[in-house]
Amino acid sequence: MDNKLYLVIPCYNEEEVLPETAKRLKDKLSTLVQAGKINPDSRIVFVNDGSGDRTWEIIQELHKEDIVFSGINLSRNRGHQNALLAGLMTVKDHADMVISMDADLQDDINAIDAMVDKYLEGIDIVYGVRSSRAKDTFFKKATAEGFYKLMNAMGANTVFNHADYRLMSRRALEGLAEYGEVNLFLRGIVPMIGYPWDVVYYERGERFAGESKYPLGKMLSFAIEGITSLSTKPIRLITGLGFFIFIVSIGMLIYSIVRHFMGATIVGWTTLMVSVWAIGGLILLSLGVVGEYIGKIYLETKARPRFIIEQFLHEDA
Ligand code: UDP
Ligand code: MG
Repeated sequence: MDNKLYLVIPCYNEEEVLPETAKRLKDKLSTLVQAGKINPDSRIVFVNDGSGDRTWEIIQELHKEDIVFSGINLSRNRGHQNALLAGLMTVKDHADMVISMDADLQDDINAIDAMVDKYLEGIDIVYGVRSSRAKDTFFKKATAEGFYKLMNAMGANTVFNHADYRLMSRRALEGLAEYGEVNLFLRGIVPMIGYPWDVVYYERGERFAGESKYPLGKMLSFAIEGITSLSTKPIRLITGLGFFIFIVSIGMLIYSIVRHFMGATIVGWTTLMVSVWAIGGLILLSLGVVGEYIGKIYLETKARPRFIIEQFLHEDA
């Protein structure tokens, strides 16, 4: 029978929230099954991303209690994106549609209904979009929205205020599997797959328990990853900047010559120092950006595995 729904949930040190999340998701699945919208063989798959706490033990217990719960254990912590990808790639041959979401119940699970409805209408990719961030702290809201704006300005087109809460059909997942890159930035790649898509709006709640696993540092490196893996616009900007500075330096040359003939050459130490520092800084920054891309090329040529699965607890019905 069709319409098998798999929920994929990456978990990193989520022992505090996992039991409650499991309970609520199970209830959600049963209502959907009763409404005849999804197959009774649907599953909830937790991906343990190398947690240091009891997360994997809890997942194993859940699986023992009820086969609706499945678990994937990664060999070590690989970060949210890779954990999610590991989950998606592992379940794609079992499911007809897959919804990915966070373990902390910040993504309103009642949006699942609307996502499934859209799938049943023939949509392949449904993005969950936050309608407001009223519950986020001011800092989180400002940094997160700045993140999306920066991404778009740098040529990485993503769906505004969409994190990784989304439904994908099996054929969309098969499309995703074709992207062999190691530095995979899901939010940027998924829109490239194509197929009919739509959005569902939801209110983003507070983290149910525990702490955010995405502190500012991780978020910044995530933004740099995203931009450099999706676009080469920063390199283009550097070229533009270099050109601009070259034009300015011609102006400076003319200015210096004029000053020389006017007999006022010794003043200008300050301007000299300032420009040496400014240009030195710009050169280092530019080298850094170019270096980022070279680093990416290096990693891609090695084609290391994006994740290694230690164990897949799963029972097909
Ligand atoms: N996560 C993960 N690996 C990591 C960090 C986070 O699998 O290295 C998971 C985490 O368990 C959660 C999701 O990614 O399910 C989102 O993390 P979090 O809720 O801490 O981020 P925030 O909502 O604060 O942005
Ligand atoms: Mg969260």
